[in-house]
Amino acid sequence: GDYTMSEVLEFVEENDVKFIRLAFCDIFGRQKNVSITPSELRRAFDKGVSFDASAIDGFFSVDQSDLFLVPDPATLSVLPWRPSQGRVVRFFCDIKNPDGTSFIGDGRQILRRVVEKCSQKGLACKVGAESEFYLFLEDDKGEPTHVPFDRAGYCDIAPLDKGENVRREICLTLEEMGITAESSHHEQGPGQNEIDFRYSGALTAADDFITYQSVVRTIAGRSGLYASFMPKPIANQSGSGLHVNLSLYKNGRNVFQDLLRGVPSEAEGFIAGILNRVSECTAFLNPLTNSYERLGKCKAPRYITWSKGNRSQLIRIPLASYDSERCRMELRSPDGACNPYYAFALLIAAGLEGIEKEMKLPKPTELNLMDASVDTTGLQSLPKTLGEAVGAARRSEFLKEVLPTDVIEKFLAAKQREWEEVNGSPDSHEAENQLYFG
Ligand code: GLU
Ligand code: MG
Ligand code: MG
Repeated sequence: GDYTMSEVLEFVEENDVKFIRLAFCDIFGRQKNVSITPSELRRAFDKGVSFDASAIDGFFSVDQSDLFLVPDPATLSVLPWRPSQGRVVRFFCDIKNPDGTSFIGDGRQILRRVVEKCSQKGLACKVGAESEFYLFLEDDKGEPTHVPFDRAGYCDIAPLDKGENVRREICLTLEEMGITAESSHHEQGPGQNEIDFRYSGALTAADDFITYQSVVRTIAGRSGLYASFMPKPIANQSGSGLHVNLSLYKNGRNVFQDLLRGVPSEAEGFIAGILNRVSECTAFLNPLTNSYERLGKCKAPRYITWSKGNRSQLIRIPLASYDSERCRMELRSPDGACNPYYAFALLIAAGLEGIEKEMKLPKPTELNLMDASVDTTGLQSLPKTLGEAVGAARRSEFLKEVLPTDVIEKFLAAKQREWEEVNGSPDSHEAENQLYFG
């Protein structure tokens, strides 16, 4: 719910809350938090609670290391897996400099700016995520193994599907936290699962994705399982994507519906704008060396194309959504290792640029691009490695319009190091596992 500060203080008072988690993300989208007692909450709202930013990856230098967390009251959520006596609540926070101005690396504020730009143009963009992940067994020391939890495949049922209770717990926990998981199923790979969310505003969708990842990891861990969002944890098996569904409304009208009816609308420029900028954004949408093992295989896209319906393309307009408010585009390249705040901000900004410049959509590509015999000459490809993606990002002027230069540089420098480390090692799979698994 959308609480105000005074409602929050009252809630904490009346609900036996003992700890308050002030949560935020580093530039790589990893959740961090500081815990305070209820007596400190008012101070947190007024002045913020300080933390040592120099100890957070990608945040700034030691000489300006004090940053402040100011809770966003609208994000109040009880953590259902913590004790119900002496409750724990969590807020996502805005990050401030000591002088009270916004810290430039704060993804929530970066995304909020793009959302505001949208509404200045009379547009509202909604985001719905579809998230895939694997469940692996843990050994008797609680360390993750590479053994998948089951051998089931797409939409299988129990007893083949052993994930049903884990998914049930995840969905119920999310519901308690006010997040709607519209559907869930066993995915194609052994031990692979998917959970799909109801659409919401972009900032809420990003906050919810961060919450969701911690819910999945926590619930899995309680069952002796390790949940991995690694894009391609098992070679030759289905990868794990984070499909991003974007819908756009003008005066409450879904403009994607107009596009499908052949009526000129903002949807054309929006999709064209994303196709136009997707390469330079790819380092932020697919940030691991391992991300590039997923793309181009098992229904994950490689070419910068779009179509209606076809799952082998980068962007599709899901047929099932044609006649409804849910009409939207689905971008199929991103994976769960991205920072959702930066990712959504970049995608919406690229779409807005396409609308502003009245970009035209190329003809849809009605080919099955997963079929190896299909002729792909002439199709433009996404970057094929993290190294290529970093190169494309470094040449981009567009990125600088959305993200602060300092953030871009820190992010890309870290990605370049990862790329060199994996690429230069005798066993690149082993190197990736060291970096990204467990
Ligand atoms: N697992 C595929 C991917 O890596 C997507 C399969 C699907 O269409 O859900 O994106
Ligand atoms: Mg799927
Ligand atoms: Mg999908």
